Order: sequence, then structure tokens, then C-alpha cells
Amino acid sequence: MRTLALALVAVIIPAAAAAETPAGLAAQADEALKSDQTAWDFVEGITTEVGPRQAGTEAEARGRAWAQDWLSRNGFARVMLEPYKMDTWLRGAERAEVVTPFPQKLVIAALGDSGSTGEGGITAPVVGFSSYAKLEAAPAGSLKGKIAFIDHSMRVTQDGSGYAFAGPVRWTGPALAASKGAVAAVIRSVGTDDHRTPHTGGTTFAEGVKPIPAGALSNPDADNLERMLARAGARGAELTMKLVLTPRFVGQTESGNVVSEITGRDPSLPPVLLACHLDSWDLGTGAIDDGAGCGIIAAAARHVAAAGQPLRTIRLLFAGAEETGVWGGNAYAAAHAKEPVAVAMESDFGADRVWRLDTNFTATNPELYKRLANAVARFGVSTSAVDASGGADIEIARQQGGAVIELQQDGTRYFDLHHTADDTLDKIDPAQLRQNVAVWTQVVGILANEPGPIKPAE
Ligand code: ZN
Ligand code: ZN
Repeated sequence: MRTLALALVAVIIPAAAAAETPAGLAAQADEALKSDQTAWDFVEGITTEVGPRQAGTEAEARGRAWAQDWLSRNGFARVMLEPYKMDTWLRGAERAEVVTPFPQKLVIAALGDSGSTGEGGITAPVVGFSSYAKLEAAPAGSLKGKIAFIDHSMRVTQDGSGYAFAGPVRWTGPALAASKGAVAAVIRSVGTDDHRTPHTGGTTFAEGVKPIPAGALSNPDADNLERMLARAGARGAELTMKLVLTPRFVGQTESGNVVSEITGRDPSLPPVLLACHLDSWDLGTGAIDDGAGCGIIAAAARHVAAAGQPLRTIRLLFAGAEETGVWGGNAYAAAHAKEPVAVAMESDFGADRVWRLDTNFTATNPELYKRLANAVARFGVSTSAVDASGGADIEIARQQGGAVIELQQDGTRYFDLHHTADDTLDKIDPAQLRQNVAVWTQVVGILANEPGPIKPAE
């Protein structure tokens, strides 16, 4: 008997050291799928009591205070505000109309960091470009005194890859048009809906370049302008547009990150970092972008804790000011540069279901990848060989060369709503939101109880 007992100990101990996932974790994840209320409570609460939370504004500050209170009431430890300063831009009036030859109003939203036309507006001829590449090919100086219309359209993809294709139109299209002499830029919304809801979002001008006025037309308005340009061209007529965009830069204001923890059994181990962003664009109430993300990560952390105190600390980063230039994620990376992170994950792609597990250690830690993949297969999550690079606010993990995971969500509907007035609570499907919480609970629970390195040194 004695010999047998020793033999069993010898076999069992190494196995237990490799994977200490609490027995109740799977049951917690299953429970989350059926009845999680935490994620909904967060996103319903912040969209109702705070609403739009544009970066650097008083509304974002109210969002931070609201989130701090919510985290404290929901059992999180070391709830802390980490303030920083940022350059803040505010929307003004926004109107667009075709003056000749087919006078009518168009629906437009200014892009973040757009310049101003002044109260009187700008009236100028419009030159259309059917793609970003066509604008790139336009000769230097050819847009002098003109409004450039960049009509590059976005297609629906489940993995959101259409954004990488269409995104540059918004990110750098206006600056490119300005470099060729344009007095203003109007883009087709980077979005996939057919509603008269323009999609805002940040655009970028190089340091020292004066921002030109830049706005996004709703997709139906862009369709109409495209037809009008074709008909005007066929008649040999010039199409002129009047644009009034009066946003302003208000200089440096305060923003901040809200951090909190579920303290682990061994706080000396590098933590598992879960991120989302608290700010939203000002047109909607920031439900899918990104109230849902903060609700999902907080709910998952609570479910993991309910299965037993995790080995590693779970740290939550509710980043501020993601939308206007990742100010919060960058401030966090700078302030915590010397604190190693075991693995980082961000939820910032709406509230529809998780369908694929991407990591940056699939090849280097195949045993752990397989364990994670097997654990979430029952929620309909598939494996992948795509190398994850992580969300915007987990820059710290990229700088440290650390492990990152992306729980890829179904992006089929995301860009119908993204950065529009339609980003509101009713667009969240509670069942799919709960599926997110279940998958995150399962994955975070395994990682937070993993003693060894998540991404072995290569
Ligand atoms: Zn976002
Ligand atoms: Zn966004």
C-alpha cells in the first residue's frame, strides 16, 4: 500500500502543478451563459446614467466616477483613478448641402480632429474619388480650392477585416487630400449600414499640418452624391457643395484610466490584464463601443473569483480616451512599464458572440492553447492559426513582448452601428452578451490559475 501511495503522489503532483484550474470554473462559465446579469447591469447602467462619454470632456469624467462606484459596489479591490492630460476636440455645427446643380441637404458628421470651416462655411467644387488609391494617384496641387469626396466603400466581414481595408479613408484620407490642396474632405462613412446615420471617428493630421474640415456622409447620402457627380459630369457641369463644420480644439483637459483588481493568492506573480475603454463617441450612448466590453471583462472577473480566489491577480483597465488617440492605453503603458504582465486581453468589438480564439502563443505554448480551445469549444468558439496582436489599450503587453489573446467576436453587425447615433443599448442581444461573459470566464479562469509563463520566451 505504501509503495502504491508514493507512486500515486509521484504521478499526481506534477499533473496538478501544471494545471490548477478550480473545479468550479466550468460550472461558473455555464452559469454565466445562462444567467449572467453583471455585464448587462454595467452597460445598461452607464448608458442610462451617463450616456455619451467623449474623451476629455466632463461627460467622460462622470463615466469614470460612475465606473469607480460600480466597481467598488461589485467587489473589486484597489479601485483607482489614474489621471492624465490630453488634447481635446469638440464637435460643433455640422451641415452639408449640394448647391449646384441638384440643390439638396446631405447628412454629415464631423470626424474627430477635423478643422473648422468657420461659421460661414465653405462653398467649393467637389472632386470625387472612388477609392483611396485613386486619391493617392491624384497629381500634387490638383485639389487646390476643391472639396475632395472619398467614396471608398466598406464591405461586411465576420472578422471585421473590412475595417482594415476601408479604415484608412477616415484615418488619413483627409490629410492626403489636404496635401494635394483640398480645402475640405468629405468621406463615405466607414460603416456597413444603409441608414442616414453617419459614422464619426478620429482622423489624423501630421504634426504641424493645419487640419482641414473633414466629415463623413451617411451611406445613402454618399450614394446620392455619387449619382449626382455622375449626372453633373455627364452634363459637363461642376458640382458645388456648401459645408459648415465648426468643431474646435479646446487644448489640454483631464482624462483618466480606472483600474481595479481581483487580488490573486500570489500577488507577486505578474497579473492577467483585462482591458476595455470607458470613453465613447458623442453621437450614441457608447453601448457596443465600448460599454459592453467593460461589462464583459468585469463580469468574467467576478465569475472567476466566484469559482475560488485565483492564483494570479486579475487587473482591470477601464481605459479613458481610446477613441481620440489611445491616450489612456498609452498612459497606462508609460505608468506601468516596469510591471510585467502575464497576459493581456481587450474586449472592444461590440457585444455579439465570440467565435474564434486567437493568441500570440498558439505555436510556442501549444499545450496551453489546446487547453483553452478545448474549454471554450462548447460555446461555439473555433481554433485559429491567426497571430493575435491585441487591442488598442493593451499597448503595455506589446511593449513587453508579452502574451496576448483575442477572443474574436462576430463583427457582422458591428460596423452598422460603430460610431453612430445608433450605438445604443437596444442593439445588444443579451444572450450573445452572456456568451461573451461565459467564454471570457472560462479563458480568464484558466490563465489566472496558470503557474507557468503563458508565452514562453522564444
Ligand atoms: Zn472601441
Ligand atoms: Zn470606437
